[in-house]
Amino acid sequence: MALQLSYRLLGRQLSAGQATRVGRRRLSLLRERALVAGQWTVAADGATFDVINPATDDVIASVPDLGEADAARAVAAAAEAQRSWGQTAPRRRSQLLQAYFRLLEEHGEQLAALLTAEQGKPLAEARAEVAYGAGYIEWFAGEARRIHGEVVDGAAPHKETLMIRQPAGVAALITPWNFPIAMLLRKLGAALACGCAAVAKPAEDTPLSALALAALAEQAGLPPGVLSVLTASRARTPEVGAALCRDPRVAVLSFTGSTAVGKLLYAQCASTVKKLSLELGGNSPFIVFDSADLEKAVAGCMASKFRNSGQTCISTNRILVQAGVYDRFVAALGSVMASQLTAGDGAADGVNLGPLVNNAQLEKVSGLVSESVRQGARQVWPRPGSAAPEGRFYPPTLLTEVTPDMACFREEVFGPVAACARFETEEEALAIANSSDMGLAGYIFTENIAQAWRVSRALECGMVGVNEGLISQPEAAFGGVKLSGLGREGGHYSVEDYTEVKYICFGTK
Ligand code: ADP
Repeated sequence: MALQLSYRLLGRQLSAGQATRVGRRRLSLLRERALVAGQWTVAADGATFDVINPATDDVIASVPDLGEADAARAVAAAAEAQRSWGQTAPRRRSQLLQAYFRLLEEHGEQLAALLTAEQGKPLAEARAEVAYGAGYIEWFAGEARRIHGEVVDGAAPHKETLMIRQPAGVAALITPWNFPIAMLLRKLGAALACGCAAVAKPAEDTPLSALALAALAEQAGLPPGVLSVLTASRARTPEVGAALCRDPRVAVLSFTGSTAVGKLLYAQCASTVKKLSLELGGNSPFIVFDSADLEKAVAGCMASKFRNSGQTCISTNRILVQAGVYDRFVAALGSVMASQLTAGDGAADGVNLGPLVNNAQLEKVSGLVSESVRQGARQVWPRPGSAAPEGRFYPPTLLTEVTPDMACFREEVFGPVAACARFETEEEALAIANSSDMGLAGYIFTENIAQAWRVSRALECGMVGVNEGLISQPEAAFGGVKLSGLGREGGHYSVEDYTEVKYICFGTK
């Protein structure tokens, strides 16, 4: 199979300074100050850190490197703002979220440009992320008016038994770099709808999206202090994280990121017994059965594997193909990879595979691929011995003859690597799929309806795509089991995270 992949890097060479200026003109929502306690601010000691475009290495901006004291200030302001925000009529909160949604829509292009610049994803994907993220604000504008308790018949007729829902209190929102807009809006929409003030800590690689979202929230009329955004470098992040976890005024911690950091935050929150929502790593199986429609299966695999260059927590990681269709599936996947993937700067036309976000990711992905090849996987593409990747552009890679013990199956690769293993029976596929200690998403492709139900129920994960590779939507419950986390975000499920139930017993005798 002759695979031809095109790379469209920037056509002409610009100096770093030139490129930065050219880039910045388009980035009208760019903010270089953090929002703390209602003020756009710098760090007390003036410290900053640079935000880099991962496709070009240009410095896009420098943002404040905040620390523990800033976190405490943000929490104090949120706790103060919480008192009136928690009492604001749900209808008013809903209207504010609607206004915010409209602003997000109006500024979709600017947000997408900023997102591509700091995160690297192709512009079409950045636009899709903005629309997806804004969809959560639209959804929670509705949910704000549908948060209600229950009245039940108590044990005795003279006891009226009521359960009401109240805002849980200040929420700390720690978000990752792979979906910097959608992950923040998913958490923020739910928190605001439920009447919680929020302190957000975006990832160090992608703080600009969060600052832009905060600027628009302010423009929508969010009262000062209800949202702070703390930017912090990799070095100072642990200090800010610990301050948020240990502060008794923070009632909820919602985190999306790695399992390692999730476990650390879980432990740090023990002393203040916070409500926790943790959306952690995945290791999604993608199972193609003999009865599958192979065209659908390949399309589903492309969508779930290569979106954001594979840097998605629900990305397909372990492709399991039944023996009867294995050779045909792998050949079809290889040729679609070859004809449809164009790697390069996400801002360039026609590019649909951006760079990996940073050098650590690049090293991790290439390490897992070399280890798997050493363990016996066959690298079909790129051909062994091909030129090393340029910059942070990891080439789309197809590995076959993979077995469950190999590195690319044991760990979440988080890169554009399609690793395919062969299985014989449904039981064997399920045993392999469930052997992971992660349980976020799973995908199955089958035209056998009984099998679709059976396997959906048997998979140990929080979400299943049946003949569908793109499953995220604001209406649905997003989350995982096992080491993939706690709680569900989206739909009406987020209300659990940001409200407390209070039981009131009315004696009427
Ligand atoms: P990844 O390994 O994919 O970069 P992380 O889990 O490290 O994912 O990052 C997700 C988010 O967690 C980011 O906002 C990051 O800054 C934050 N983070 C990382 N380490 C800590 C920590 N010790 N305390 C609080 N937040 C942290």
